[in-house]
Amino acid sequence: MVISAPSGGGKTVVRSGLLKLDKRFAFSVTCTTRPRRPGEIDGKDYYFVTAEQFGRLRKEGKLLEWAKVHGNYYGTPVKSVLAVLEKGRIPVMTIDVKGAHSVKKLFPGAVTVFLLPPDLKTLVQRLRGRGEKPENVAVRLETARSEIKVASRFDYLVINDKLGETVREVAAIADLETRKTGRNLDKVKAFGNQLSKRKGF
Ligand code: ADP
Ligand code: 5GP
Repeated sequence: MVISAPSGGGKTVVRSGLLKLDKRFAFSVTCTTRPRRPGEIDGKDYYFVTAEQFGRLRKEGKLLEWAKVHGNYYGTPVKSVLAVLEKGRIPVMTIDVKGAHSVKKLFPGAVTVFLLPPDLKTLVQRLRGRGEKPENVAVRLETARSEIKVASRFDYLVINDKLGETVREVAAIADLETRKTGRNLDKVKAFGNQLSKRKGF
């Protein structure tokens, strides 16, 4: 499950809410060259790496996708996603719009969700509330202009008004997606095998 939004759109809090709501979901930790913010934990929020380390990961093909956002590099280690899938859980990736499209191209089965705040005023309040300096708010709003242009490429759009509702809506999308016939053909096949082998009723 890939969640994107303009900066301040709610990716981080919606992800936390999803992980708390439902044990099916697990966060696939990504790596970044940006400095750690107060309270962030290496290996939990991000793998904080140097530009050299990031370059090496990229060259060695260890990143599923990567992007430069607001002057820093970000990338999804293949290992992070595989580790979650191997546990039979749903990897939740909160990445920028370019990364979301790269993942969808590689894995058409990935489900992409775009979050939008109810309006611009709310977005600005949330960015300020998160402690972003006015110049950072301006950069993020400018980036948002190009990000929303590609919103139509996402599978789903969720308006992030009340947080609890947003989290439940994203979980509901996962519920529906897991019921798609194409994701459950093994069950149809198993039933077909039972039918073939039946001896009377
Ligand atoms: P992103 O990860 O997309 O940049 P965040 O998850 O950091 O966005 O959200 C930006 C700020 O807005 C945070 O301070 C967060 O707590 C707040 N926020 C996000 N969604 C909501 C919501 N539905 N209601 C109230 N505050 C929210
Ligand atoms: P922040 O620095 O605010 O944590 O993140 C900045 C942007 O980078 C956000 O849109 C975030 O979702 C995105 N991001 C985080 N990790 C990755 C990643 O691995 N790949 C891509 N493409 N974007 C990422």
